[in-house]
Amino acid sequence: MILSRYLHDSLDMLGIAACEYDARLEAVSWNSTFLEFFPEDAGAIYVGEPYADNLVRFYRGRLSLEEMPEIERYIAEGVARHENQTQPFEFIHNGRRLRASSLRSPNGARVRLWQRLDIENHAEAVPERVLPVFDALPFIPDGATILDSADRIIAANDAFRQLYGLPGDRSVVGCTLDEIIAWCWRGASPAGPWRAAIRNGLRYDGAPFEIELPGQRWLRVIARHSVGGIGFFTHADITMAKRQHIELSEAQTALRRANAELAKLAGTDGLTGLANRREFMEFLAAQARNPGPLSLLVIDVDHFKAINDRLGHLIGDACLKLIGLTLAEQAGGAGRLVSRIGGEEFGVILGGTSLDEADRMALAIRAALAHAPWRSVHPHLDAVTVSIGLCSGEGPVDGDALHGCADDALYAAKRNGRDRIESRPLPCTRRTA
Ligand code: GH3
Ligand code: MG
Ligand code: MG
Repeated sequence: MILSRYLHDSLDMLGIAACEYDARLEAVSWNSTFLEFFPEDAGAIYVGEPYADNLVRFYRGRLSLEEMPEIERYIAEGVARHENQTQPFEFIHNGRRLRASSLRSPNGARVRLWQRLDIENHAEAVPERVLPVFDALPFIPDGATILDSADRIIAANDAFRQLYGLPGDRSVVGCTLDEIIAWCWRGASPAGPWRAAIRNGLRYDGAPFEIELPGQRWLRVIARHSVGGIGFFTHADITMAKRQHIELSEAQTALRRANAELAKLAGTDGLTGLANRREFMEFLAAQARNPGPLSLLVIDVDHFKAINDRLGHLIGDACLKLIGLTLAEQAGGAGRLVSRIGGEEFGVILGGTSLDEADRMALAIRAALAHAPWRSVHPHLDAVTVSIGLCSGEGPVDGDALHGCADDALYAAKRNGRDRIESRPLPCTRRTA
C-alpha cells in the first residue's frame, strides 16, 4: 500500500479523490472523496476488485442505451488509459467536472487522483484572450469547437451540432471528437477507420484530415492548438467535393482503361487478333536494341491467291485465322511477338533466340501447319504450306537490316520451290530478286 490512511485523509481535506490500484490492476485503497465523486462505488468497490469491474459500474451510469453495446470497448479503452496515462485529463461525472491524474509507482502500482474543477472555473481557466472566441462561435459558418488541453469540448456552435446530427438535448461539453463520432456511428462499425483518422489527424496540428460519417458523408476537420493547449477545431462538410473527387477518379480509371484498350486495338490485326504491322515494327525496333541473339521469321502463305480463287475470300480469311492461331501456339512467349504484317504474310520476332533455335522453331511451325485442322475450315481444303525466311543476328542489330535479310531469305524460299525454310545470318549480302 502506497497511500497511508493519513495521506488519504489529507487528500480528503483538500477535496481530492484518491484510489490506489496494485500492479495487477486491483483496488487497494480509496478515500471518502472518491466515494463522494463516484457514489456508484459506495458499498460496491472492495479490496481486490479488478479495475475493469469498476469501469463496468462507471460506464453503466454514463452510457446511453444506444451506446451500451459498445461498453466492452469503452472498458478496454479505459483499462488501456489507466495503464498508459501520463497527462491529466478532464471529464464530467455526476455534474462535476473532474481532472483525473494517474501516477505510476516503480513497481507498477497506480494511484489515481481526481480534482474537482467547477465548470465556471474551468471556463475561467481559458486564457482571457480566448474568451471573445466563445461569443464568435455562432458567427462561424463552419462547425467550430473549442477544446481544453485534453481535447475535450468546452464549447461548440450550432453548425457543429448540425454537421454531426446531434440532437438539441445532447450535451457535447466534456466529449472528445472521438466520442462524438463514435456516437454518430453508433451500432455500426465500432472499430471504424475514422478512429485511426482522428488519431493521425490530431498528431499534426493544423493539417486538415477527413472523417467519414454514416450515409457516405465526409467532414474535413482542422485542429489547431494554442501554446496554452486550448484547441480550436473547425469542421466542414466536404461530401460534395469528395463525391466529385470519387466520380472523377472513377472516370479517370475508365478513361485510362479505354485508352489502354484503344492502344491495344491500334496495335492489333482485326482479322487474326495478332499484333499488326505497326506493333511488329515497334517491337522489332525495341528488340533490335537489346544485346544477345535476335531472330526473325517472315512467313508467307504459298499460293494463297489460288485458295481465294477456288474457295472464296471468306474461306481465305478463315485460313489466315487458323494460320495465326497455329503460329501463336507455336511461337508465343516473353520476348517474342507473332504478328500479321501484310495480307498473307506473318512475322515472328524471337528475342534472345539464336539461328539454330529459330530454325527449330520454323520447322515446328511447318509441322504444326501440316497437321492443322484445314478440313474444319473447308472440306476441300488441303494442308496449306508456307515459305519461311529466317534471319538471325547478335544484338544490338539494325532492325531494318534484319527484316530485309529475312525478306531476302523468304524470296529465296519461294524461288527454290516454296514449302521450305531459308536462313541467313546477319549481316547478309542482299540479293535482288
Ligand atoms: P506466293 O506463293 O507466291 O506467295 O503466291 P500467293 O498467291 O500467296 O501470293 P500473291 O501475292 O500472288 O497473292 C496473295 C493473295 O493474298 C492476294 C490477296 O487477294 C490475298 N489476300 C491478301 N489479304 C487477304 C485477306 O485479308 N483475306 C483474304 N482472303 N485474302 C487476302
Ligand atoms: Mg503468298
Ligand atoms: Mg505475299
